[in-house]
Amino acid sequence: MVFAHQSDYILPVLCHRSFFIVFCSGVINMDLLIDIDEVKGFLDPEEGQALYHAANQVMALGPCLEVGSYCGKSTVYLGAACLKSRNTLFAVDHHRGSEEHQLGEAYHDPDLYDSSLGQVDSFSAFRQTMLRAGLEEVVVPVVASSEVVARHWATPLSLVFIDGGHSHQAALTDYQSWSRHIVPGGYLAIHDIFPDPEDGGQAPFEIYQLALASGFFEAQPTIKTLGLLKRI
Ligand code: SAH
Ligand code: MG
Repeated sequence: MVFAHQSDYILPVLCHRSFFIVFCSGVINMDLLIDIDEVKGFLDPEEGQALYHAANQVMALGPCLEVGSYCGKSTVYLGAACLKSRNTLFAVDHHRGSEEHQLGEAYHDPDLYDSSLGQVDSFSAFRQTMLRAGLEEVVVPVVASSEVVARHWATPLSLVFIDGGHSHQAALTDYQSWSRHIVPGGYLAIHDIFPDPEDGGQAPFEIYQLALASGFFEAQPTIKTLGLLKRI
């Protein structure tokens, strides 16, 4: 299994459920207590490792926050970094699914549908993932819409990962709500960046460009569809 990662030179060694990634600058031991392939979700392992690496770099600057946890795949990577550094990850998701997860839509999963309520519910799957990954003391699930949580948020953040709704309005709200809480030196990570409209929806790419144009962020190498920006 070969992992490419930004401009770092890495030598990966796969050892059961632990990844020992040897960087030029040192050794990072990414311990995931769960088989990540068993967790439903939409994050590529290379993107997950990049999130882990970024969270590790900024652990001293404050807690991390993600918008859009689903069944906890990205949460496992970010949470593992937080576990190692005694940091905290706030995992914001209303667990009612994005547009594409709804009944009849392309990414609907019947296992995550409560037919008695007529609602998507990914929260039990998420909790199970956190338990199995040993992250219940590290990850704080915030079960509400991003906008509502952000309304009274005041805690500075070391890293924000945006992977919630992909409508233009949802992505813009997430960007406006959360990017302003990132401390200098921290990271803004945005999933599903498709510079070519042929490849995917443009809302995440649009907020990525907004962040760049704001003058508050500088671009880091993109990892597959994971855009990474450093708060100046
Ligand atoms: N990061 C996940 C995938 C997230 S999918 C992974 O690694 O697999 C997108 C998630 O965003 C869904 O679970 C959906 O419920 C959530 N979501 C969409 N819009 C939201 C909003 N406005 N507030 C909170 N969560 C939202
Ligand atoms: Mg995504």
